[in-house]
Amino acid sequence: MSFSFDIKHAESDSRARVGTISTPHGQIQTPAFIPVGTKATVKSVLPEAMADLGAQALLANAYHLYLQPGADILDEAGGLGEFMNWPGPTITDSGGFQVLSLGVGFKKVLAMDAKTFRRDDVIADNKERLAHVDDEGVTFKSHLDGSMHRFTPEVSMQVQHQIGADIIFAFDECTTLHNTRPYQELAMDRTYAWAMRCLDEHKRLTDERSAKPYQALFGVIQGAQYEDLRKKAASDLGSMQSSGQSFDGFGIGGALDKGALGTIVSWVNQILPESKPKHLLGIGAPEDLFVGVENGIDTFDCVLASRIARTSAVYTMEGRFNLSNSGFKRDFTAIDDECDCYTCTHYTRAYMHHVFRGKEIISATLATIHNERFIVRLVDQMRQALLDGNFKDMKADFLGRYKHRSGQASD
Ligand SMILES: [Zn+2]
Repeated sequence: MSFSFDIKHAESDSRARVGTISTPHGQIQTPAFIPVGTKATVKSVLPEAMADLGAQALLANAYHLYLQPGADILDEAGGLGEFMNWPGPTITDSGGFQVLSLGVGFKKVLAMDAKTFRRDDVIADNKERLAHVDDEGVTFKSHLDGSMHRFTPEVSMQVQHQIGADIIFAFDECTTLHNTRPYQELAMDRTYAWAMRCLDEHKRLTDERSAKPYQALFGVIQGAQYEDLRKKAASDLGSMQSSGQSFDGFGIGGALDKGALGTIVSWVNQILPESKPKHLLGIGAPEDLFVGVENGIDTFDCVLASRIARTSAVYTMEGRFNLSNSGFKRDFTAIDDECDCYTCTHYTRAYMHHVFRGKEIISATLATIHNERFIVRLVDQMRQALLDGNFKDMKADFLGRYKHRSGQASD
């Protein structure tokens, strides 16, 4: 088995730590931000440029790759990394989030306000319900061509083994903050049963495909905003064993009320085995990354950095702004004069403003390179600050400046 996690340094007054995840395709120095290439590409950016900007691994999505081009194609190609020309470590998330998002018709189920309303039949206006959950799995309609599909824990494991990423996730029922407490309990019971089935199928596939590089399986902790449910999930999955197999690491997922992020992560990390890596699913706003690291998160992924880049929004040390605003027409400075990325060392805000206004394809490439570098480097700087013993100062300095300019730093 070639997967391991070594902790090099742990803070005494918080859960923050520095470590190394080793996979068959290389190492990830943690804490680390993992850029997202949903469909086996970080939109508009070459893999070489992702490596140059410091990305240590890339995360793709099993649901999207299953629908197109099909997991069997990736298997034939030699796996995700080979297929997309990325030699480093790769990760896939199980597709549970995407499949279940179809169920409520909301793109953004995370970080919604828990207080607005709670109904299990909630569905976005004018949206057809595209997914139905039962105890065995989820039946859903493809967003591409309307064809019907079914994901069970076994199918998710088979799909993720064919895709072949170094780290894969158990199939879970991802609820929203809109669901009622009784529904959250039901979903937790299902996620527990599905986690067990994922371990069994993962073991079977690992044996059957023993010539392939080892894939590490992470369990996913659900439980929404409820302390008892989160802690129960952490306790159940943290100690779960089946077919002689336990989880190699854990993902913390599901409905996360932004204001309670640190509290929720701290509940589960008190209980999950300290020696295993923890991944925070879908969180990547700068201020949230600090909260995650302090509470023991080792890796993060989020599409935000690249998604907002394509709309001309960029992160800087002074906050976030839009390059298409007319104020940048004659601004011949870099996007961020402290940034060392390819874009900031070769182009001005005036040029970026010009390519965004002209809808030039290169606008997405250059802005994505900057935003990904900004977030990857920010987490790298946290890692270094932890090693140097000045994490708190680094955090205070960053957040003081970042919020000062942006007013509201959250997305
Ligand atoms: Zn830059």
